[in-house]
Amino acid sequence: MSKRVLITGAAGFLGSHLCDRFIAEGYDVVGMDNLLTGDIKNIEHLFPLKEFSFYNHDVSKFVHVPGKLDYILHFASPASPIDYLQMPIQTLKVGSLGTHNLLGLAKNKKARVLIASTSEVYGDPLIHPQTEDYWGNVNPIGPRGVYDEAKRFQEAITMAYHTYHGLETRMVRIFNTYGPRMRVNDGRVLPAFFSQAIRGEGITVFGDGSQTRSFCYVDDLVEGIYRLLLSDYAQPVNIGNPDEITIGDFAQEVIEMVGNPAAKVVYKPLPKDDPKVRQPNIELAKKILNWEPKIDRAEGMRRTYEYFKTVVPVEAV
Ligand code: UDP
Repeated sequence: MSKRVLITGAAGFLGSHLCDRFIAEGYDVVGMDNLLTGDIKNIEHLFPLKEFSFYNHDVSKFVHVPGKLDYILHFASPASPIDYLQMPIQTLKVGSLGTHNLLGLAKNKKARVLIASTSEVYGDPLIHPQTEDYWGNVNPIGPRGVYDEAKRFQEAITMAYHTYHGLETRMVRIFNTYGPRMRVNDGRVLPAFFSQAIRGEGITVFGDGSQTRSFCYVDDLVEGIYRLLLSDYAQPVNIGNPDEITIGDFAQEVIEMVGNPAAKVVYKPLPKDDPKVRQPNIELAKKILNWEPKIDRAEGMRRTYEYFKTVVPVEAV
């Protein structure tokens, strides 16, 4: 009998890729999403499959799924700074109440849970690159606090269910990830730069562009998550690509790739509490999961550009 996995945030960028992967691996997949920031188009192709079912539900409210569950992957949450500025309470609730509901469900079903944590638990980091034993530098009452603190609470309650109830738990700390199905207008740097470059608008570099990020292609992330779920490691694990770049240089890469002469950099103020640097140390993932990213930025960006070429003009009209 096939294993059965519940994926929350199933219609989102990461959730939908996870649905695809688990279907491909022969699992029965139950997707759940309230479509607050997710898009049903991302999983439309799965609806004809008998291995796939879907609940339109907000996991911050009591969650019931009939039948057995072997695994639960909790990926529901607004995930871009603009989203959590606009939806601060929902962001807090899905990371806290939502996680609590899913841990309870997992306990009931004797399922293993993997929660999507984030490099944001490190805040504006004072050590670089970030290792899992770094406790972070987070402003709880700043604009990003609603996301960062919900995710920190999520790790705390997940660990409590592990130690107190003996629940099987896994935690992935996800660094900046990109690829097809990112929402065009979600405000994150890559969709913003691609859509601006394609439309010939100003490329909005925040601050002086010297802040850094390290971008991981979605397929590499999914592979890391898949391995972590099947591992026996209950502590948090960084999954990301350590290839670090400044946002200014990243803007140039996008401009060159798209080649639209109308697209020029315009500088905008740096958002409050924007981390100055971010780069994962992935030695732990290498050691315990035998995982490292395989798709470099040039290749990942080519694939992602192909996607944005198909969706940007449609949204522009
Ligand atoms: N950024 C930018 N222009 C944009 C959107 C974002 O310069 O139009 C910068 C942002 O200030 C940050 C980096 O790009 O330093 C990554 O931002 P994003 O929102 O993608 O995610 P974050 O890593 O901050 O959570």
